[in-house]
Amino acid sequence: MNKLEVLKYLEDISEEVKEVSLKVWNNPETSGNEKDSSSLFRKVLKSHGFEIKEIDGMENAFIGEYGKGSPVIAVLGEYDALPGLSQSLDTKFNPVEINGPGHGCGHNLLGSAALGSVLAVKKYLEETKASGTVRFYGCPEEETLIGKVKMIKAGAFDGCDLALSWHPMNANVAIDKAYLANSSIKFKFHGISAHAAQSPESGRSALDAVELMNVGANYLREHVIDSARIHYTITNAGGAPNIVPKEAESWYFVRAPYRKDVEEITERLFKIAKGAAMMTETTVEYEILGGCYEKLPNNVLYDLTHKNMVEIGVPSYTDEELEFAKTIQETLESNLVEAEIKKYIDSDEKIFLHQEVLDKDKVDSVVVSGSSDSGDVSWIMPMNLFLTATWPLGVPAHSWQATSSSGSSMGLKGMIYAAEIFTGMMYDLLNNPKLVEEAKNEFNKRTEKRKYISPLK
Ligand SMILES: [Zn+2]
Repeated sequence: MNKLEVLKYLEDISEEVKEVSLKVWNNPETSGNEKDSSSLFRKVLKSHGFEIKEIDGMENAFIGEYGKGSPVIAVLGEYDALPGLSQSLDTKFNPVEINGPGHGCGHNLLGSAALGSVLAVKKYLEETKASGTVRFYGCPEEETLIGKVKMIKAGAFDGCDLALSWHPMNANVAIDKAYLANSSIKFKFHGISAHAAQSPESGRSALDAVELMNVGANYLREHVIDSARIHYTITNAGGAPNIVPKEAESWYFVRAPYRKDVEEITERLFKIAKGAAMMTETTVEYEILGGCYEKLPNNVLYDLTHKNMVEIGVPSYTDEELEFAKTIQETLESNLVEAEIKKYIDSDEKIFLHQEVLDKDKVDSVVVSGSSDSGDVSWIMPMNLFLTATWPLGVPAHSWQATSSSGSSMGLKGMIYAAEIFTGMMYDLLNNPKLVEEAKNEFNKRTEKRKYISPLK
């Protein structure tokens, strides 16, 4: 089987892959609740002859494995949805369920592209009896940035040589540097309750501590690197105004381009929390809910990704699909859309859909400033990343427009393109063991001085 024949096989099974994608889209399950979605992926993989391995303590995570020997390639599949982003297949805001969940990050596409590619590569391994193992990683809880961190801790990735990842987006681009590292921490203050009018002097307000900590954090902003982000909510502010709050809690995210910056800023936040506790004569404890790493670059896999994206070529679209993209784009703020288009295309024309692969020299203008627990995977083995156009240009992640597009035929085309890129990459890796070695050597060099330490204690 040559590369074209493997890709032809993928085309033959593409309807089955699209069906999985739409089933997941039609039954959006939020982080930690991906029971039906993970079962569906297990079922399809099993029916194609994959062995299913469970992961201790994680009901909705699993591995589907096929093949023998090295290299062992991990393909990352996600399938969780987002709360509040319910949307039907429509070009105007039209939720299926008011405030219900929806695939506003396109993870229905993310998981099924990974699935399609492993099914195609399985066929190749079966026909050629070539050495190599392909693993589909069913990764839940990405939106809460914790699934893969837990999976790494559970040893689920042991034995892999490298990992392949992608994300649905509004452009076709191979990316090497991405994701902000982050930490998620809850601060719980404990005080003494009292009647707020009759005996305020005997009370010590935990809420005062939360507020003073926030003041401190807001002053800290001026003295951290520009690219750092600190955001918080108050998750417990006491019960009633006439009771001095005995308990209060805030929830912080700290993000920065590099994990080491996140750790430094977090340490300073701990000092602020202690200071707030001291000022109010309360006590404070921290709960680290999770955290993740930025993506570690790997030039070898980046080049291989870009090469396959160009070689395979972007999908072509029907007039209806282009019209759908145009109408969706028209619902967005035009200034933002124009700024977004400029990142990808040197043109003043209004373009609805990205229909080329971004040149390497323009990649730096694409900043993936969200966080992802995939970043952690890139610190335990070489990992690539690319985006394909599954949404019209300008559509942001976590929007109803993204939910709608992720269930459209335009979105499904971007998903199949992603599956083809994965398939092409795996074909190259299986046929050229030197590439695997080079990617691993680069990884070893990059991690010589900094090893991965789980953000989970
Ligand atoms: Zn996502």
